[in-house]
Amino acid sequence: MRILVPVKRVVDYNVKIRVKADGSGVDTANVKMSMNPFDEIACEQAIRLKEAGHAEEIVAVSIGEAKCQETLRTALAMGADRGIHVEAPADVQPLAVAKMLRAIVGREQPGLVVMGKQAIDDDSNQTGQMLAALLGWAQATFISKLELADGRAVVAREVDEGLERIEVTLPAVLTVDLRLNEPRYASLPNIMKAKKKPIDVLTPGDLGVDPAPRLLYLKVEEPPRRQAGVKLGSVDELVTKLKQDAGVI
Ligand code: AMP
Repeated sequence: MRILVPVKRVVDYNVKIRVKADGSGVDTANVKMSMNPFDEIACEQAIRLKEAGHAEEIVAVSIGEAKCQETLRTALAMGADRGIHVEAPADVQPLAVAKMLRAIVGREQPGLVVMGKQAIDDDSNQTGQMLAALLGWAQATFISKLELADGRAVVAREVDEGLERIEVTLPAVLTVDLRLNEPRYASLPNIMKAKKKPIDVLTPGDLGVDPAPRLLYLKVEEPPRRQAGVKLGSVDELVTKLKQDAGVI
């Protein structure tokens, strides 16, 4: 079986986000970019499935600007076998990403697509669900446990009420949650080896998809600044303040 792992290049989760002065988006100039953390977990899971003998090949896909190839190299250094870069604008939206992934699934015929539950830049949480719908495949989202056997995946899903256990038949789209695993760091020899692994470059046109945005961002704003706190001398003072200043009791 082949596993497809879509990996997105996003602003690193440690970076303090700055909004552009004109409110048109987030400033990404000279900002550290990394693989979306949920996609690292997806990549790790695909590698573990290969190590356990469930898969022969892992193909990582990234859609976006030329620098997405750095993200693909990270996936290759972790253990993916080859990469596909779809050279497109940086801000391709989930429906267009899902359509491109559908076309790549058509070419590559994977038995599983393992991807992040959401990208931490736009927090859309849409691409996996859209891809499964476009393909007519089963989907299991927010998974925190996975077992494969007899052409089926048994997963635990993280839902509001706790954990939900479901079984889906393959081929399927799985979207991973934080607790599924702890991704490995790529070793230096593997980083060197990854430089020689192949990356195919495609365009949205090759996949028959128009990458133009369907949604228009009106304005991006910083959240209001938090007010400074005050230290109070006694519980009585606190009660008075809650009554008189805050008006909450
Ligand atoms: P989203 O629906 O945008 O929150 O993204 C969910 C998942 O879809 C991500 O964790 C990735 O696995 C995949 N994905 C979204 N955008 C891209 C992209 N431009 N390139 C590759 N994978 C992507």
